[in-house]
Amino acid sequence: MSCRFCGSAESRPFVDLGMSPLCESFLAPDALDRMEPFYPLSVFVCSRCFLVQLAEYVSPEEIFREYAYFSSYSDSWLAHAASYTRAMTERFALDGRSFVVELASNDGYLLRNFVSRGIPCLGIEPAANVANAAAAVGVPTLVEFFGRRCAAELAARGPSADLIVGNNVLAQVPDLNDFVAGISLLLAPHGIVTLEFPHLLELIDRNQFDTIYHEHFSYFSLLATERILGAHGLEVFDVETLSSHGGSLRVFARHAGAEPPVAGAAVEALRKRECEAKLDSLAGYEGYAQRVAETKRNLLAFLIEAKRAGRSVAGYGAPGKGNTLLNYCGIRSDFLDFTVDRNPYKHGRFLPGTHIPIFPVERIREARPDFILILPWNLRREIAEQLSYVREWGARLVVPIPELEVF
Ligand SMILES: [Zn+2]
Repeated sequence: MSCRFCGSAESRPFVDLGMSPLCESFLAPDALDRMEPFYPLSVFVCSRCFLVQLAEYVSPEEIFREYAYFSSYSDSWLAHAASYTRAMTERFALDGRSFVVELASNDGYLLRNFVSRGIPCLGIEPAANVANAAAAVGVPTLVEFFGRRCAAELAARGPSADLIVGNNVLAQVPDLNDFVAGISLLLAPHGIVTLEFPHLLELIDRNQFDTIYHEHFSYFSLLATERILGAHGLEVFDVETLSSHGGSLRVFARHAGAEPPVAGAAVEALRKRECEAKLDSLAGYEGYAQRVAETKRNLLAFLIEAKRAGRSVAGYGAPGKGNTLLNYCGIRSDFLDFTVDRNPYKHGRFLPGTHIPIFPVERIREARPDFILILPWNLRREIAEQLSYVREWGARLVVPIPELEVF
């Protein structure tokens, strides 16, 4: 396997989560008796450039052409988009003469904020079903995978972009060099690109191995991101840490040489933190697999003990990360009676691989389980509040990550 960025064939295993189905492929009842595709979830780190990555087991065409995820269903994500628009408009003085492009613009959840401010924009989105939803709210959208070819066509037609936005898209790009070269082509001489992605340092420090999915081909540190952007003539001049997705980075970059090269204090500080965590050598990536295996043993030990004592255990949520966790740990309805979710699309369906049934949230009150395993641990506070009524019958809540905790 060669590195998706530098092409080196030298790599080391980072963590192997075994075989898993695609984490968003929820099953209807009539699919339970059929074969289900499982793919390896085996992550490696490049020995030359230290990019943490998954081989392309599943093509992006297969995953992203018809996509079930609509950003506009998440209230917190909508608020995030509105505050981003406000901050960028002020900081970079965007107005009716500017041009904003978003890569993987989904259903227009973000760009509609620019539309309402009268700032010209364009979304680029490969999934036709979500792109149609964007057009319906007045966000011009091109149904296409972004890369060199798409960027060259757009740049030839003009104008080039004053701001390019890439939120949670970089990890999903199989051909990184083609994608970043496209950004460089489309970006105006003094334009800005901002990229948001889950931070590898958090994945390692906070044991977030369940955020590894087939949809996420790469896992980025700031150091790796700077190297990749740098190879295409882009330099990082600022970075912010965000709480989204368990800890993300927002990286700001521009053409190298567009301004005197000044990396802000935040960039320097984060580079230093990553070097202290040894992410600039293979040492920083060793030992992770053992910690992940220990997390699995702890969760199974808890479930075995609870089941032996005759207790019932239900899940809360049916997020992608839950499917990685449950498949890796081999937890099926022998341990978890059922799970619940607020999204009606999932009701009556089953989790991929583990075939655990998904019900509306009200099922918790009816079944009165002894323990409730919270799968979207990033929302634990919010969910614990919503579930405060389970104390009526003495139920306790469980989170598996970063460490097993019963509370
Ligand atoms: Zn490499």
